[in-house]
Amino acid sequence: MAGRDPVSFLRQEYEVLVSGDLDWKLRVLQGPSTPRCVVDGRHVIMLCSNNYLSLSNHPKVKQAAVEAVKTHGAGSGSVRSIAGNMDLHSELEKRLAGFKGAEASLVYQTGFAANAGLIPQLVDQGDLIVSDELNHGSIIDGVRLSRADRAVYKHCDTEDLGEVLAKAEGHQPAYRRVLVITDGVFSMDGDMAPLDKVAAHARAHGAMVYVDDAHGEGVLGEGGRGIVAHHHLSRSDVHVEMGTFSKAFGVVGGHVSGSRDLVNFAYNKSRTWLLSGSHPPAVVAACTAAIDVLETEPQHVRNLWANTDYFRKGVRSLGFDTGRSVTPIIPVMIGDSGAAKRFSSRLYELGVFALPIVFPMVAKDKARIRTIMNAALTRQDLDDALSAFEKAGKEQGLL
Ligand code: PMP
Repeated sequence: MAGRDPVSFLRQEYEVLVSGDLDWKLRVLQGPSTPRCVVDGRHVIMLCSNNYLSLSNHPKVKQAAVEAVKTHGAGSGSVRSIAGNMDLHSELEKRLAGFKGAEASLVYQTGFAANAGLIPQLVDQGDLIVSDELNHGSIIDGVRLSRADRAVYKHCDTEDLGEVLAKAEGHQPAYRRVLVITDGVFSMDGDMAPLDKVAAHARAHGAMVYVDDAHGEGVLGEGGRGIVAHHHLSRSDVHVEMGTFSKAFGVVGGHVSGSRDLVNFAYNKSRTWLLSGSHPPAVVAACTAAIDVLETEPQHVRNLWANTDYFRKGVRSLGFDTGRSVTPIIPVMIGDSGAAKRFSSRLYELGVFALPIVFPMVAKDKARIRTIMNAALTRQDLDDALSAFEKAGKEQGLL
């Protein structure tokens, strides 16, 4: 083996991606993530950010971040479990639990860290995880870190879930614990998990329920309280409500809400939480301010839904298919990957930033342009975007 370059695979594997047009070409956002913004030097309408309520630009949220730097510094100095647990962190968790109507909440560094850190602690050898087939990659990684058995049920198919759970009842030796886990809103299609039915099946089989509500918070339920609120479910129906501050809250950070027992367990056991530095003060204070805004300014969630209804009707009336979307994630189905990429490039030239989602993220014939609505988009923005969809669609023979 002497003389062999041990890292030649780095370039080789990258080149395979490039030759298959499967590499990520990073675009540069020059300034804030606003509905009209500048990407790679071009003025565009932003249709692919998760900043659903534009809270990243809210004056109260920005001001809170600035103030926190002045009062608490730029960094926290440690992990939460040692010396990095500031009063700001505790305040955020108290406010989040209040917002969610939960006994307690725990903030993680990211949503990914919450899923990767908590799932493998909830279930281990002798247990079973039952997961929707289209769950997010961070759930998949969390599941892979666990030594529990795994079963996958068909996407949003609660009959199939029931069968998987019934079959698990007969397992020998009997499973110690069963965890049913689902996204609340699925990020590729914008469809929603039938969480009420999922919870009913889980209850019938004595299983825990874990929902990843990354795309439901700030969007669904009263005042954007999420999918658990949307279905009027209780904490005995859904045991772990996980979410993120990186989308509708407009900042960054993950979290779980539920019982005090859940939070005590989670922070004592999740290695991603115990062994990783805590959020800087500016992040924490901005997240708390975002909760303030959600609690006092209901117009943002209302505007988001008004824009969603307007744009979905608009693209449908042009003749496009928006698939299963029932939320502000609105895929515009194209089919072929190459066609989706060409369409997205033309939209960009016409001043609309909306990325294609292609194989391997979705099936080969299910490529799409994934648009994501934002509360701060104006009717003029949406009409301009619809004109671009119509023009590009006609030029490229899609309409
Ligand atoms: N779950 C889902 C469903 C997501 O879409 C995302 C973000 N892409 C995450 C978890 C991870 O959240 P975060 O950005 O906070 O790491």
